[in-house]
Amino acid sequence: MELKKDRLLEALALLREGSDVALPLPADDGGEPAFRLWDGVQEPFLGSNTSLPPKELLFPRSEGMYGYNLKTGELSDILPEARTAVFGIRPCDVKSIENLDHAFLEKGYVDSYYRARRDGLTTIALGCSEAARTCFCDSMGVAPGDAPGADLMMNDLGDAYSVKANTEKGEAVAKLWEGLLSKGGAKAPAAPACGFSVKADDSLPDRLTARFDDPMWDSLSKACIGCGCCSFICPTCYCFDIGRENRGACGTAFRCWDSCMFSDYSRMAGGHNPRPSKKERLRNRYLHKLAYFSQRYGATLCVGCGRCIDKCPANLDITRVMDMMEGVDANG
Ligand code: SF4
Ligand code: SF4
Repeated sequence: MELKKDRLLEALALLREGSDVALPLPADDGGEPAFRLWDGVQEPFLGSNTSLPPKELLFPRSEGMYGYNLKTGELSDILPEARTAVFGIRPCDVKSIENLDHAFLEKGYVDSYYRARRDGLTTIALGCSEAARTCFCDSMGVAPGDAPGADLMMNDLGDAYSVKANTEKGEAVAKLWEGLLSKGGAKAPAAPACGFSVKADDSLPDRLTARFDDPMWDSLSKACIGCGCCSFICPTCYCFDIGRENRGACGTAFRCWDSCMFSDYSRMAGGHNPRPSKKERLRNRYLHKLAYFSQRYGATLCVGCGRCIDKCPANLDITRVMDMMEGVDANG
């Protein structure tokens, strides 16, 4: 089925009658484009992927967890009731949600805050028509023109979008749009090739861990300034810290994003820090992305969006580490 481009805002308005709608939108102050709640009027920003990932829809940078009363011992859960349809999410970011699902919902533990937002989220993906300079998603198992994990998949056909439902939630959207859709036979143009490729095959985790004690981590980490930007803009980074805000006997526990690139991230109560320098922290970031997560969940924690390459103020580049693994023996 096809949706004519000049009917897109009508289609989004229909969605907005039943839920919040998030779109890639420019910031009012001219800042970075990001997935923001749509006011029913703004035009979506669809040129390229957003600088900020959509993970905030599922894992906000700060959120209340529960309230408490120290006098009575009373606890009250603060569970979100979000119901959001996100349009314009790219295949790499759809894949990143699959990774967040692994981390928050598997291995015997379900994060109820994430679960509530995830159940209420409908993903409407848009295939990429152009690759940014730093994209390498096709090396990381993502097809720039397809997102099988999205509820509904759309591709740019010129004056229309193709529309294909992948799930029941996607079928519900297609039904809602029934009056706006037409039969179409146009094939989506071939997805763009990424600007460069890296070798990230099944042996990468073992090749990386075989170089755990290599002096390369020292030299690579020299330029890092520990700003944490790479974690905050990464669609798959999910670490958080928990804090408390007291007002007399009552208070709220909240969680907020954290970064393994911060020096106090791994500092323990007694003062010991198992990752005392930038070397250990950078090594941990790359090994978590490319080795440990794969060993635990069978999926790499990098989807090749290129954001951390684009934004790192010290020009650190995760693909350089992958390139350095060329020819390394996985058995050490
Ligand atoms: S963005 Fe770059 S400089 Fe900042 S913490 Fe990450 S690797 Fe280090
Ligand atoms: S590590 Fe970098 S390239 Fe990989 S998903 Fe995160 S931000 Fe994107």
